[in-house]
Amino acid sequence: MTEVPFLDVGAAYTELKPELDAAYHRVMESSSFILGAEVAAFEEEFARYCETSHCVAVGNGLDALHLILRACDIGDGDEVIVPSHTFIATWLAVSYTGATPVGVEPDRGTMNIDAARIADAIGPRTRAIIPVHLYGQPAAMSDMRSLARQHGLRLIEDNAQAQGARSDGSRTGSLSDAAATSFYPAKNLGAFGDAGAVTTNDADLADRLRMLRNYGSRQKYGHEVQGLNSRMDELQAAFLRVKLRRLDEWNERRRRVADAYIAAFARLDGLELPVVLPNVEPVWHLFAVRHPRRDELKHRLADMGIATMVHYPTPPHLTGAYHTEKPAGGQFPIAEEISAAELSLPIGPHMTKRQVDRVIAAVTEAVTSLG
Ligand SMILES: *Cc1c(COP(=O)(O)O)cnc(C)c1O
Repeated sequence: MTEVPFLDVGAAYTELKPELDAAYHRVMESSSFILGAEVAAFEEEFARYCETSHCVAVGNGLDALHLILRACDIGDGDEVIVPSHTFIATWLAVSYTGATPVGVEPDRGTMNIDAARIADAIGPRTRAIIPVHLYGQPAAMSDMRSLARQHGLRLIEDNAQAQGARSDGSRTGSLSDAAATSFYPAKNLGAFGDAGAVTTNDADLADRLRMLRNYGSRQKYGHEVQGLNSRMDELQAAFLRVKLRRLDEWNERRRRVADAYIAAFARLDGLELPVVLPNVEPVWHLFAVRHPRRDELKHRLADMGIATMVHYPTPPHLTGAYHTEKPAGGQFPIAEEISAAELSLPIGPHMTKRQVDRVIAAVTEAVTSLG
């Protein structure tokens, strides 16, 4: 029996039931179900939250990334720099446009893309850099901003895991030409189904994105380009408006769990903790530790009732989606090393102090016995 689940997504409904039920009834009685008043209100509220002038709501996080690239006219023959260590969506969004994802290795401490390695990957076809704020920690944006400016590249954040985080005091989602985010239920700001969004300060990009998400159409049945159907539902927007009001508080609860783990594990031999840069405020989407005998550690914790996950067991270049295109193993040794050692401990806004203490005791016991 699992004593500590990895994440209790159902607890959001328990905590917010009256407000979510009211949102549901409001939408059902409105007879407006896609891109209506709730979506418009959410776009305004999420833009304000991210400190950007525009938000364009779309169907999911993968589409948000893909549509930004399309809006920037990136496609066939182009190259886009992506982290070698990320969720595969970052790579797939590039491939869907016809461009080629070019992996760059992470920094071993933060596990985010290593800005110092990017210059070597820039070539004549490079058009953009997509850093991912992985596990909820902002990537080194100021270094990448100067690189992008110097080489005339677009800078695009993958902000799916870091809603509410700050870097040098500014919100993620506002640190680049445009940022994609995902409201997949398990994200820090999760919907009750699929949804995503783009945030940007660029009015022209926002305008193109609104057209692209809706069949390339600005006017009903006028189709300027081959756009997509990637629109947000009114129900999801209404639910997200309720949850957005709790995001800072829920991120703060995650931070308290992370602080307890860091304090407890700081001197635990063999367990490697994530390095947090001094200029950032992470939002702890995941708490990613590393251990040389990760699989054994995972099994022992499972035996003690602690659910854990691996993010991610296979780096994108070794998956079936990509390994045929280039020599497989060894191309990104740091990403491969992290995939082999990473273990995500339970973290979330609804963990009780008792559950946090259970995880700390179990991890301490398992790591000590593994030696
Ligand atoms: C979740 C996620 C996405 C994709 O979001 P979906 O809404 O599932 O399409 C993209 N990038 C990263 C880093 C993610 O974690």
